[in-house]
Amino acid sequence: MSNTDFTLAIEDLSVSFDGFKAIDALTLYVDKNELRVIIGPNGAGKTTLLDLICGKTRASGGSIKFKNTELLGMAEYRRVRLGIGRKFQTPSIYENLSVFKNLEVSFPRGRSVFGALAFECDQSVSARIREVAEEIGLEDKLDTEAGLLSHGQKQWLEIGMLLMQNPELLMLDEPIAGMSAKERELTAELLERICKNRSVIVIEHDMDFVKRIAHKVTVMHQGKILAEGSMEQVQNHPKVIDVYLGH
Ligand code: ADP
Ligand code: MG
Repeated sequence: MSNTDFTLAIEDLSVSFDGFKAIDALTLYVDKNELRVIIGPNGAGKTTLLDLICGKTRASGGSIKFKNTELLGMAEYRRVRLGIGRKFQTPSIYENLSVFKNLEVSFPRGRSVFGALAFECDQSVSARIREVAEEIGLEDKLDTEAGLLSHGQKQWLEIGMLLMQNPELLMLDEPIAGMSAKERELTAELLERICKNRSVIVIEHDMDFVKRIAHKVTVMHQGKILAEGSMEQVQNHPKVIDVYLGH
């Protein structure tokens, strides 16, 4: 397999904050339709890595190729248009709009919120909204004001807003934080469904959840990769045991 076959090929990536290397010569490849989970102690650089991929933070060196296109130096909105979606830890839904409207404003044809609201909702957009609503399990909540949804449902709605753009790479930072056991299970099923059509990177602390969803696990520590492989392989890796027992 050559590097050009990966959805995401990160090589020798670094970023420093005031001389502190938050990401240190990191190399990571993500396959098409892969669900990769990144774990690691607090401060390992997990969120910073996602910031670098989506363009929120500028790298100091290295390369990030998405479907063989170099991302470094590319503006954040252009990366979104190329097919990169990122969900942050705090949800950013429109609480006073319905689930339907939240999905509608996320349809790529609407360049601004106002443009999207004014834009007449034709049948293809409406069909796409229904398709996504079904995927995130909110098909019965389309008319519900988003502010009235449960915590878990709000998280799924935000994932749905990203899915409206049909991204080829979706990144989620701690998606099950604060969720009930039932919501966690439904989220695992949701992630299984959505990685059939795209690659997904999830940062997560909950090891039962990681075991449940991961195709492959990457363990980060001090801006570097400590171990990578199946959940079983990384769990039994002496360096990983060291780092986790040491904290
Ligand atoms: P994780 O998500 O694995 O807990 P982070 O990526 O948030 O870790 O942080 C990695 C390290 O980089 C931490 O020491 C953090 O304080 C530092 N850091 C992250 N972003 C910035 C920034 N914008 N400016 C300065 N330091 C930062
Ligand atoms: Mg983080």
